[in-house]
Amino acid sequence: MKACILAIGDEIVAGLTTDTNSGFLSQLLRGAGIDVVGYMSVADDETDILRALRRALDDADVVITTGGLGPTADDLTTACVARLANTPLDLHEPSLRAIEERFRSIGVEMPANNRKQALLPRNSEPIPNLSGTAPGFILTLSVDNGGRSVLTLPGVPREMKRMAEETVLPWLVQRAGGGAIVSRVFSTVGLSESRLDEMLAGCMTPSEGRLSFRAAFPRLQARASVTAPSAAEAEARLVLLEGRIRTRLGEHLYAVGDEGIEETVGRLLIESEQTLAVGESCTGGLIGHRVTDVPGSSAYFAGGVIAYSNEAKVSLLGVDPATIEREGAVSEATVMEMARGVRRALGATLGLATSGIAGPGGGSPEKPVGTVCIAVAWEGGEWARRYQLGSRSRSWVKEMTAQIALDRVRRHLAGLSQ
Ligand code: ATP
Ligand code: MG
Repeated sequence: MKACILAIGDEIVAGLTTDTNSGFLSQLLRGAGIDVVGYMSVADDETDILRALRRALDDADVVITTGGLGPTADDLTTACVARLANTPLDLHEPSLRAIEERFRSIGVEMPANNRKQALLPRNSEPIPNLSGTAPGFILTLSVDNGGRSVLTLPGVPREMKRMAEETVLPWLVQRAGGGAIVSRVFSTVGLSESRLDEMLAGCMTPSEGRLSFRAAFPRLQARASVTAPSAAEAEARLVLLEGRIRTRLGEHLYAVGDEGIEETVGRLLIESEQTLAVGESCTGGLIGHRVTDVPGSSAYFAGGVIAYSNEAKVSLLGVDPATIEREGAVSEATVMEMARGVRRALGATLGLATSGIAGPGGGSPEKPVGTVCIAVAWEGGEWARRYQLGSRSRSWVKEMTAQIALDRVRRHLAGLSQ
């Protein structure tokens, strides 16, 4: 089977957006033994898109497009594919409901033009979009038209990748007569991408399965995919590989599946019937934000205090001014008192606190930018530690601190050593 990839968008042709989608898709397809004959890029122009689609369909059995599925007037991909196939657009009710639900969940009424995203060419198969609004679709042209297929994906890389891995790849593998492909995601913490790669190196041969990595800071994941004659066989082989991956990753693996560490922490809190309170200085509410992004977090999240100034640490969290005076606001001693204080103030079973120097200013030789202290306090115990994270950027330090802090709570709840 031969595939051609078509990136659609003015900003790509203008050189304002670098086309990373095509490279991602190419690697994914080649990994599954599908021959990628080439890439094309075109602007948001109906004539150009149609010409490119025709040419791509001359060269390949399947054409995968990215971009131009949005709700606005410059999003032309769906209309062009329908025109090429000489087929009308129908309203796809389940997709419309999914789009409406997505807006409802953020408390916004769906703008009328988003309805356009649920219009799909007749006889096409939708590609669900679980991370955004626009679904993609697969349309196989009539035999007169060559019997070849066009697969459309949105331009936003995060949405496109997930849809490509979860729907497009299995479809292509099956269509290529390669049976079924089954994959699983492993979410990790406390590793760099290269370290993760190293830890998993050689854990499967190319004939057993394929590993890919996805880094969307602060998330770092590995995905194992297995191709087999049937889904059941692929699944059975994947179970075997999962065992090996679990052993290799050990405590760095916080979840099998695509989830944030705040979701794992939430589950562990529910399981152990505990509640969490956070006292945040350098993370400025980021931990509270992430914890409350999880539906149902009211069951275990008591609340948080952003104690940014020394005065707030003293008056709201009961930190002893002498501790700050003696050790500094960024110290194990201060952050320990913050964790203890927020736990008491909010009546939670667990207190978590952060204090650090996010930069770019404020560092000193003893405490350079990226010095961060994290503490966890519970009934009858507490733990604190200082980290030197380095100084990539202010937001990086905040994100990293929140990630490590949530991991400390995970480790505590899972009974792992700190
Ligand atoms: P939307 O609903 O956001 O309009 P869309 O499917 O119409 O989605 P585009 O409008 O074409 O997609 O692109 C949305 C964004 O995705 C672009 O602004 C760009 O940042 C990114 N993007 C689009 N195409 C690519 C590509 N080929 N490589 C990398 N990023 C891309
Ligand atoms: Mg768009």
